[in-house]
Amino acid sequence: MDTDVLIVGAGPTGLTLANELRVAGVPTLLVDKLPQRSTLSKAGGVQSRTQEAFDQRGLLEPLLATGNHPTGTAHFAGITLSLTQGRHRHPWRSIPQAVIEGFLEQHLAAQGISVRRDHELTGLSQDEDGVTATFASGRVVRSRYLVAADGGRSTVRSLLGAEFPGRPGTMTTVAADVRLSGDDPVMTHTRSEDGHWASVFPLGTDPQGRPLRRLSLGGPGRSLPREVPVTEAEIRDGLSAVFGSRVQLLELRYARRITNAARQAAQYRHGRVFLAGDAAHVHLPIGAQGMNTGIQDALNLGWKLGAAVHGWAPDHLLDTYHAERHPVAAAVLRNVQAQSLLMDQQGTRDPDLVATKELFAALTQLRDVQYFLDDVLSGMGIRYPMPGTEGRPLVGLPAPDLDLGPVRSHELLRRGRGVLLDPADRFAKVAALWHDRVDRAGQGAGTEPMLIRPDGYVCWAGNPDDLEPALGHWFGEPH
Ligand SMILES: Cc1cc2nc3c(=O)[nH]c(=O)nc-3n(C[C@H](O)[C@H](O)[C@H](O)COP(=O)(O)OP(=O)(O)OC[C@H]3O[C@@H](n4cnc5c(N)ncnc54)[C@H](O)[C@@H]3O)c2cc1C
Repeated sequence: MDTDVLIVGAGPTGLTLANELRVAGVPTLLVDKLPQRSTLSKAGGVQSRTQEAFDQRGLLEPLLATGNHPTGTAHFAGITLSLTQGRHRHPWRSIPQAVIEGFLEQHLAAQGISVRRDHELTGLSQDEDGVTATFASGRVVRSRYLVAADGGRSTVRSLLGAEFPGRPGTMTTVAADVRLSGDDPVMTHTRSEDGHWASVFPLGTDPQGRPLRRLSLGGPGRSLPREVPVTEAEIRDGLSAVFGSRVQLLELRYARRITNAARQAAQYRHGRVFLAGDAAHVHLPIGAQGMNTGIQDALNLGWKLGAAVHGWAPDHLLDTYHAERHPVAAAVLRNVQAQSLLMDQQGTRDPDLVATKELFAALTQLRDVQYFLDDVLSGMGIRYPMPGTEGRPLVGLPAPDLDLGPVRSHELLRRGRGVLLDPADRFAKVAALWHDRVDRAGQGAGTEPMLIRPDGYVCWAGNPDDLEPALGHWFGEPH
């Protein structure tokens, strides 16, 4: 074998996975076909759960120190979820994808892992022991596992012949990175009487410190074929249709048309090959979910591949990647489709739709409805199917960040190992059997004992009799 895991694609998914495997101590090769990292901003919104996951690896503080990354309030179908403010330790934040990629790449480089650029994967085969990848250069790499993090048009997915069912795009909207003048709006979704709309949210600042905005535009007659270039005149016209003369375009840095294609791989695991991020699911970027879902795919898969490489993964562990992550992205695709319809992105002004939206807007004035939608978008409500969830409200959910006196419980996850919170020192004997994979923490008197997986999800809480089976289920045979 040339390496244990070959990751194809150094976008946010591949970079996060490379870091997870580094934390797990797994030799990894990360390749990308681009000679240089893309500087396109693409995603701009980072959800609470993604920030929490970075925090659990000690990466959030240095990431936030890279610049001014303002917090904001999430929206669903353009309706701001203002009642959810203050709900999470890490509120929704604007951090451009390019900043996250640059930060992760530098962090990996500092740990001796560099992205092998100019490496375009063109061929793939697998057998019982491993995967053979061929590159455009003629180079051949043999690995035990391969992860396709190569984006929505995944070469790996095509080479596998993997099913990618869903719906082709039926319309386009415009996404642009801009500087605006006049009454420069921040975080708004604005609609004109005649169905034209504009969404604006902050994208940090340019090198001169001037505010940048992500602008999305649509409405009647604005859904042009994807290949038609977006012009400055089109952006000015779209702004004027929504804001009149209140807002003008100062600078257009980048623009593209985005389709509402919605597809998801039927299977995330194909033997020794796994699909992650956009390679596994694509949808219209509404509500800041694509990059976040990919990063969380990587967190879910990383420690499981680590366990397989180190030889302690129970037989079912790698299959739980599909079982846990497929339903998450399926739900994202559905909520994006619902949001796109409610936002009437094509500007039909269909009276039935207007009535539905009015009713929906009234419902979203209820706190519980906002909390429900916030759970959907922020990732904090993701609950994985696990044994022991019945009657145990914590099991399957992201672990709470508890103040344990000298440390926060999330800080205990920095080593990428399991953590057993054992405030009453009752489980030292059983935990010792898994001491090479699970850390036991005796701090935090008064908190509930719980077992936390390396990706930060609670996998046991409550009944002491179930602890040993849970350790075996997630961490394999005792030492
Ligand atoms: C305008 C816009 C706005 C968005 N806003 C948001 C947002 O606010 N929040 C959010 O969460 N998401 C958002 N998204 C979605 C987000 O950008 C994607 O979900 C994210 O980029 C997916 O990351 P990835 O690492 O899975 O794939 P990618 O970022 O597509 O990376 C794939 C990598 O694989 C490489 N590659 C491809 N083929 C090969 C090959 N054969 N060999 C080697 N390398 C290869 C590519 O060069 C690329 O670097 C937005 C997208 C767009 C376009």
